[in-house]
Amino acid sequence: MSYDKKNLDITLVEDELEKLSKNIYLESPDLWIEFSDKIGEKNFDEMIIFFACKYNHLTIVKYIVENNLLDLTSPSRNKSFTSIIDHLLATSKTNNNIEIYNYLIGLISENTENPSDISTPDNSNNSLDSSLYIPKFICPKCKSNIFESGYKVMKSMIYKYSSDKNKPVIKSEELLDSITCNKCNTVIQDLNPDLLENICIVNNCSDCGSDLTVSGIVNETKMTYDKKSKKFVSSNESYSCAKCGNKLNDSQKEYFNIK
Ligand SMILES: [Zn+2]
Ligand SMILES: [Zn+2]
Repeated sequence: MSYDKKNLDITLVEDELEKLSKNIYLESPDLWIEFSDKIGEKNFDEMIIFFACKYNHLTIVKYIVENNLLDLTSPSRNKSFTSIIDHLLATSKTNNNIEIYNYLIGLISENTENPSDISTPDNSNNSLDSSLYIPKFICPKCKSNIFESGYKVMKSMIYKYSSDKNKPVIKSEELLDSITCNKCNTVIQDLNPDLLENICIVNNCSDCGSDLTVSGIVNETKMTYDKKSKKFVSSNESYSCAKCGNKLNDSQKEYFNIK
């Protein structure tokens, strides 16, 4: 983690703290008093960073982290989480503050001796797409999400000799339809750069990449039997891509206003 003394200058985050203070006041004047006392004492504890994550103030989060004002690995005051950083990850995720979430994830990989281990828990990512739009394409070999672990695209370049320049020059270049997993170096079949780009667009299916506004979506309603009324009643609805059956995630439902 970078540590720079001059960043400790609180005026760097004064404006952001002012905005955050307003957010908290609107939420609860009692909490606001506690918050203001802490800021007055420059006591940047879990409460302050929690609210910074909740109300999307990345500058404040960075200020606390980069000046080592708080050990994020220490136990959280909220007993549902093992550490402060777990609490913050959940908070930024729930509030869809993707930038903060990615920043915190970056800190975890920075502090892990073996960074390749950190990108492995793709199970945990399953729970993520319910609130964050993280496109997913799982490498069939190493099971990592290539949008997170990276992928390589090949470029074909044609050179010809140029007598003007006395050297070979590029005459044409094109991207090849070949994608290689950055983690395990496997060429992934039937995949190309365009398809991966399509998957990243919110109105496209996160699995097959087709445009949902063109291919359509399927609305499924589960009916459960109600003994009292002796009737089937609808219990929950789900929406999925009409082409491949992949379920829409929460950001997509929100985007299409079908929540
Ligand atoms: Zn792989
Ligand atoms: Zn699909």
